Amino acid sequence: MKKVILITGGSRGIGAATARLAAQQHYAVALSYVNNRAAADQLVADITSAGGQALAVQADVALEADVLRLFAQVDASLGRISALVNNAGVLEQQSRVEHMTAERISRVLATNVLGSFLCAREAVRRMSTAQDGPGGAIVNVSSRASKLGSPGEYVDYAASKAAVDTLTIGLAKEVAAEGIRVNAVSPGLIYTDIHASGGEPGRVDRVKTSVPMGRGGTPEEVAQAVLWLLSDAASYTTGTVLEVSGGR
Ligand code: NAP
Repeated sequence: MKKVILITGGSRGIGAATARLAAQQHYAVALSYVNNRAAADQLVADITSAGGQALAVQADVALEADVLRLFAQVDASLGRISALVNNAGVLEQQSRVEHMTAERISRVLATNVLGSFLCAREAVRRMSTAQDGPGGAIVNVSSRASKLGSPGEYVDYAASKAAVDTLTIGLAKEVAAEGIRVNAVSPGLIYTDIHASGGEPGRVDRVKTSVPMGRGGTPEEVAQAVLWLLSDAASYTTGTVLEVSGGR
């Protein structure tokens, strides 16, 4: 039986790189997306034509009904997950806090915080040995923004990622004796489309001089850290936030 992994926001960027690497490591891969069906379908086609197993499900992680439908569909199609990557995340147009609307802050928190909680909850219900599950591992995708604060750009996003760090620490302790490890990766400046949604597609190249290694990172470099944390090689590692940020 293949191990089953669910990667939220797996259609593009870090999630897509994680899906490709997981397939290479012989996971059956479920990925969710919210809008970009074409990208999700292409990734599924790439994985299956290389001999892997993959499924894409449209589901907004900020909506509880969508999350329940997502997990039910994965149960029915691939079987019980043993790995969850809480990767779906958004930021909005660069702005100072004094100009942020309540709606914008709520949208960011709903996807990044509520979405991560809901998916973690559904994963624990399936993995916990206290609920007759086989155990498993969860990796939350945080951000170095949680410590740097993102002043003048997106303090709401940074604060949402601080919540993801704390979810990681608390949940890890809560389920440590139930066969589930919970960790986070904290990427720095990674070349993906997310910077365009903040209004600055070239942001990584503008800011990369502040990175001790002098460059931005790739989605594949983050994926390697995620898959390591999920693997048995990390069997005594839980509640940690692993920085993947070139030293920044
Ligand atoms: P990206 O290229 O913009 O991709 C975002 C992915 O999330 C897409 O697959 C998107 O689906 C999906 N998504 C967005 N909102 C969703 C929702 N409500 N429900 C379900 N899926 C949703 O972003 P990325 O840079 O790869 O970011 C991935 C994660 O890494 C995020 O949590 C982000 O905060 C974190 N991160 C990124 C960086 C960086 O520099 N890139 C740094 C630190 C942390 P569609 O394709 O359907 O739109």
